[in-house]
Amino acid sequence: MMELTTFQQKISALLPQIELRFNEPMAKHTSFRIGGPAEVMALPKNKEELAEILKASALLDTKPAILGAGTNILAPDDGMPGLVICLKDCLGGMERISSTEIQVAAGVTMTRAAVFSANLGLSGMEFAHGIPGTVGGGVYMNAGAYGGEICQICKRVDVMDMDGNIQTLKGEEMEFSYRHSRLEEEDRIVLSAVFTLTEKPVEEIRAVIQDLMNRRKTSQPLDLPSAGSAFKRPAQGYAAALIDQAGLKGFRVGDAAVSEKHAGFAVNLGAATAKDVRSLLKQVSDKVYGDTGIRLEPEVRIW
Ligand SMILES: Cc1cc2nc3c(=O)[nH]c(=O)nc-3n(C[C@H](O)[C@H](O)[C@H](O)COP(=O)(O)OP(=O)(O)OC[C@H]3O[C@@H](n4cnc5c(N)ncnc54)[C@H](O)[C@@H]3O)c2cc1C
Repeated sequence: MMELTTFQQKISALLPQIELRFNEPMAKHTSFRIGGPAEVMALPKNKEELAEILKASALLDTKPAILGAGTNILAPDDGMPGLVICLKDCLGGMERISSTEIQVAAGVTMTRAAVFSANLGLSGMEFAHGIPGTVGGGVYMNAGAYGGEICQICKRVDVMDMDGNIQTLKGEEMEFSYRHSRLEEEDRIVLSAVFTLTEKPVEEIRAVIQDLMNRRKTSQPLDLPSAGSAFKRPAQGYAAALIDQAGLKGFRVGDAAVSEKHAGFAVNLGAATAKDVRSLLKQVSDKVYGDTGIRLEPEVRIW
């Protein structure tokens, strides 16, 4: 058996009751299926456990990385030293809190939240069905699709700071913009969000969800590991169209490739490394810039 690092020994002594995994492959926790081992991965079962983990990491002078469903992350090949806190399937639960509002915990997937609201006859989350991330990750980066965005429905968000204190931020305080919220500049963790929806017949909501899912299946390479759109939409035009016009569909670096089906997606053809993906993204961005003067910025978070 591998000997424990000093950090692994110290954190397990501080957190005997918490589920900790040592040298846990990040590739198991990212939709790209890429990433070396996390020195320690903590899986809190509730917000009390999360607060305990944060206190322990402060004592050990380490800043944890927060992982949702790992669907917008490129994790490093060498792995993650220190602590990764995984919230998917840990912070769970959803409830209707008024006739038109639901509260959803951060670890619930956007798709499950969309199904839950549809079943209640509440419209507004249809766009979120098919976004494979968690509500925490979705709020963090103001996820959106097909004209819908988290910022349109987000009434308030409960967050935890690194000392384990809980605060509530109103939707208008979240400084949402395109694929961005203030949390990207702050060390705060989404615990749950309240979404304001509108009443509609269940069948109408389900039909919209079905239509959007069909559009995804037809246009996106859902059979290959990816992190969704690799680049943010630039102010001028669409990333996928610019990449296609640059003749880069199918362009490869190692096993990382620009999808043949949707040029906005970078896909892992089997054994891609983070280094391959980074190089692919840079070469694509440089070529499009050379052709058009438009600089594409990665949407995927490069850890
Ligand atoms: C096939 C596919 C299709 C996709 N389609 C879309 C789409 O249509 N629209 C879209 O917007 N995105 C899309 N994505 C990208 C991705 O699903 C979203 O960005 C999603 O919101 C990421 O959530 P996550 O839980 O996976 O976050 P992760 O990838 O785990 O993390 C992303 C960032 O969020 C932070 N984070 C995660 N949880 C929390 C939390 N609780 N508190 C604070 N910070 C947190 C992380 O630290 C990290 O910086 C797609 C991805 C794939 C693979």
